[in-house]
Amino acid sequence: MSLIEIKNLTHIYSEGLPFEKIAIDNLNLNIEENEFIGLIGHTGSGKSTFIQHLNGLLKPSSGEIIVDGTKVDKSSSNLTELRKKIGLVFQYPEYQLFEETIERDIAFGPKNLDLDEDEVLKRVKSSMDSVGLQYETYKDKSPFELSGGLKRRVAIAGVLAMEPKVLILDEPTAGLDPRGRDEILGEIKSIHEKRKITVILVSHSMEDVAKIAERIIVMDKGKVFLDSNPREIFRNEDKLISVGLGIPQITSLMRALKKRGLDINEDSITVEEA
Ligand code: ADP
Repeated sequence: MSLIEIKNLTHIYSEGLPFEKIAIDNLNLNIEENEFIGLIGHTGSGKSTFIQHLNGLLKPSSGEIIVDGTKVDKSSSNLTELRKKIGLVFQYPEYQLFEETIERDIAFGPKNLDLDEDEVLKRVKSSMDSVGLQYETYKDKSPFELSGGLKRRVAIAGVLAMEPKVLILDEPTAGLDPRGRDEILGEIKSIHEKRKITVILVSHSMEDVAKIAERIIVMDKGKVFLDSNPREIFRNEDKLISVGLGIPQITSLMRALKKRGLDINEDSITVEEA
């Protein structure tokens, strides 16, 4: 049994109305424990719609999703259990910080689980450690005093404190400078390695996912268009271009793969320097 099974998932916005839109089109996919998946695709390919189904924020028009052996439905007990297992970090998650101190912000989720204080503290410390924030240095600071990159780490720590089995991050590097982007990607890689959790990294940047993902899923028009390891994905240059993932992106993908030692036969592709 896979950790997540998606069977014939279809999502239609405004179904039955003249402007209805099929955002997910009969999608089938299995996700295993401890995978690191990069989910890429052009804007509008269905990435956000898809991940919102994984923690029950959207209801399928048809099809089903099974997480850890349990079918996702809209009952509140089912959703509570689901959201403990699937941690979703939205785009620009720092906008959702609201407590006066970093410690209180990160503790907010675990406190709602009715855990005892020691357990909450343990989770706050360990999730701060996972995102590279020293507990004593940062616990009493206001999250609003921090730089953009650090705020984002606090927001990720808040999701990690729920100890999910799956961490989904929607464009976690959006709006950061190259250094901030590499730092966040490094933290995400180490979270995956140390906590042994499944990570789904959503991005429109092939470079980001090529840097760290072990499996890349390319979406197009609400379907899985390609699903393989980074090397194989990259070999499908023509197909990538056909779904709007163009040459400059492929050039950066190659650089990122080279950095990881995942070099490919450059003679088999045409790459124009950006
Ligand atoms: P991505 O995350 O890959 O950019 P989305 O899942 O946001 O893709 O969008 C998939 C398709 O669904 C697009 O055509 C988009 O315009 C449409 N869509 C997304 N959200 C809504 C919505 N709330 N109402 C109607 N259409 C939507």
